[in-house]
Order: sequence, then structure tokens, then C-alpha cells
Amino acid sequence: NKETFVRDKPHVNIGTVGHVDHGKTTLTAAITKAMAEAYPEINSFKDYKAIDNAPEEQKRGITINASHVEYSTLNRHYSHVDCPGHADYIKNMISGTSTMDGGILVISAADGVMPQTREHIVLAKQIGVKHLVVFINKCDTVDEEMIELVEMEIREELTACGFDGDNASVIPGSALCEIENKQPEIGREAILKLMEAVDSDIPVPERNLDEPLLMPIENLYKIPGRGTVITGNVERGVANKGDKVEILGYGKHFKGTINGMETYLKTLDRLEPGDNAGVLVKGVNREQLRRGMAIVSPGSVKPALKVEANIYILTDEEGGTGKPLKHMGQNMIFCRTFDCMAATIYKDEKDRILPGENGLMNFVFRVPMVIEEGDRFTVRAGKTTVGTGIVTKVYD
Ligand code: GDP
Ligand code: MG
Repeated sequence: NKETFVRDKPHVNIGTVGHVDHGKTTLTAAITKAMAEAYPEINSFKDYKAIDNAPEEQKRGITINASHVEYSTLNRHYSHVDCPGHADYIKNMISGTSTMDGGILVISAADGVMPQTREHIVLAKQIGVKHLVVFINKCDTVDEEMIELVEMEIREELTACGFDGDNASVIPGSALCEIENKQPEIGREAILKLMEAVDSDIPVPERNLDEPLLMPIENLYKIPGRGTVITGNVERGVANKGDKVEILGYGKHFKGTINGMETYLKTLDRLEPGDNAGVLVKGVNREQLRRGMAIVSPGSVKPALKVEANIYILTDEEGGTGKPLKHMGQNMIFCRTFDCMAATIYKDEKDRILPGENGLMNFVFRVPMVIEEGDRFTVRAGKTTVGTGIVTKVYD
């Protein structure tokens, strides 16, 4: 029988972002190891080598899915997503980080700010991650002066991207030293300092307990003889075993019953906002479902085909294309875990929202999607974020 997850401290969702090879995955492993060894009574042992080793990732040799680990500090329980750094997998980062209450920006002391460092800071800002704590990694490879230079560089970069660069916590250290039990001043001590900063800089978000359930689907697994397990992060509401649910999105509508919930191999007594959970749902088939749909309380959500949004078009410098959206153009919309093609329609066909400006326009999805007033989304063309919007109206 599985252990039951005990809710004895606030739960916060964080993750690592930063340029490829700067040490995001190593740092994720280092934090897990440091927490397990510094606070063994609240952290069960985990094989941290498994982080990069999900079967699909082994095949491709690159982190293509955001992988989750959990650990506790003395104050909090964390769910940590290790975001992929490779630009081709930016799509995974968009949905992976959409549930981040804050992030750890990893930057190599040997390289300083690199293109994906900036891209991830910009993206974090766009998707509403308000708090970033910086870890200057690989301090075992450079001298003091270099670390100071990188610290100045990253503070400027954060400020340029709309974060509070002057006051952000910047902790120098080495993830590899923690893993290899070397140089504790930049290994273990630095990791503990980093987590102290995370504890104090990233506030516990307000959770909506009183609303109907909404959990966007991140991944799906079939467990023979038991049913379909749906993983994701609970955005709002609570749910219990036996509750009826609907699964909506991509023009589909299914009904099922919650038959069990887990988090990190522990049983959950109920689903709560912020939980990173696996939910066993009876009455649906794995084949019918896909990432980007959402589990909701029956009748609480009506998927939308057409929405109005206030959209901001990014300039070249902000990482955009520097061009306005085309009237009647087709663009990919990313919201929660979904991506879906939508037609972009100006209110007046002569209108154009120029880079650096914002305005209202309509979006018509290919099929009805779970998107509501107040939801934030990004518009992307290929690998580039063209704009970022907030839904101002849902048309019936
Ligand atoms: P990611 O792409 O950002 O996830 O980077 P990885 O965690 O996969 O690390 C990339 C490479 O940097 C690996 O070879 C790591 O062993 C190495 N690395 C990570 N942290 C450190 C460190 O603190 N010092 C040194 N010297 N190498 C490190
Ligand atoms: Mg990695």
C-alpha cells in the first residue's frame, strides 16, 4: 500500500530555466540530493540520476518533456520542473513553465548570458512568472572576477526584461560540486543558500479552493486493467475520489469518474490547486484524449471557439518578428498546456497592431478550446513568439 501525501506545509511550483548546457538538469539533481541529505527526515531518497532518463528522452538523447521532481525545505514542499533548454523544445517549456510560481535561472559562470538565457527570461515574463532567483553555476571553473562580471551582466539582463534585476537574489555555486561532494562552499552551502533565497523570494500563490476543478492535461498513460492516468497541475478547485468529471478541448467532450489520485508515488486524499498530480479516470480511453485538453467539474466550463483578446505584439528586440499579425492569418496559440491554430482577425480589416503596441483583436480557433476570460496566452510563428495576449471576451 502506498503512503499518503501529507499536506503539512505550503506547496510551491518552481523550475529551472536557462541556456542549454549551463547545468539546469545537474542543478535539479543537486537540489534533490542536497535536500535529501540535509533534511533526511522530510525527504525520502530519490535516484536523481533518473531525471533525464524518461524512456522517450533516452531515445532522443535530449530533454523533450519537462520532467518533475519533488523535495522539501524546512518551510515548503516544492514541485520542480526541469525545463528543456533546447530552442526546438520551447513548446514544452511554454506549457511546463505555465505552472511555475517562480523560477531558478541557471547561468554558467564560464559563458555568461547566452541567447537562450535571454529567450527564457523573456518567455518567463510573457507567461507571467514574476519571480526569478539566479544561480551562477560552474563557479568551480572560473575566478572571482569572472563571477562578478556575470552577476552584473545577469542583473542588467533581468532589468532589461522587466524583472527587478537590482534586488534579485544571485547565488554563485556549482551543481557538479554538490553531486561530487566537493568544495562544499560552492557545492552544498551554495545549494542551501539558493533554496533559502527560493523560500523567501518566491511567494506562495493564492489558491482557489472554492471553485470547480480545472486541471489541464500534460501527459497521458494507460495502465492495463486500471484505466487512463492523466497527469498535470491542478489550476483551481478541489476534487475527490468518486467525483464525476468532464474532459474538454480540441472540440471533444468526454465524461469520466475519478478513481484515484497520486502525487510523486504517494496517494492523494484529494486534488487541490497547485498539486502536480496523476489522476486515474474511469470511463475514458487513452486514445481519445490528448495533451491540451482539460479535466473539469461537470458543467463548469464551456469551450470557446472565438475569443476577443488584448494582444501585445513583440518588437524585434523583445524577441518578436517585428511584424504585425496578418488579418485572417493563421497562428499557433499556446495557452495552459494546449497549442491550437487560430485565425487572427482584426476588428476592422484595415487595423494593424504594430510591434511594441497592443490592441483588441479576435481569435477564431480551429475547434473549441478550454480558454476563458482573463486567460493569458502567447501567439507563436514557428520558433518565435510574435505576441502575448489576455482574453477579454469569450463569444457564445
Ligand atoms: P542543461 O542542458 O542546462 O540541463 O545542462 P546539464 O545539467 O545537462 O549540464 C551540462 C554539462 O555541464 C554537463 O556535462 C554537466 O556535467 C556540466 N556541469 C553542470 N554543472 C556543472 C558545474 O557546476 N561545474 C562544471 N564544471 N560542470 C558542470
Ligand atoms: Mg537538461
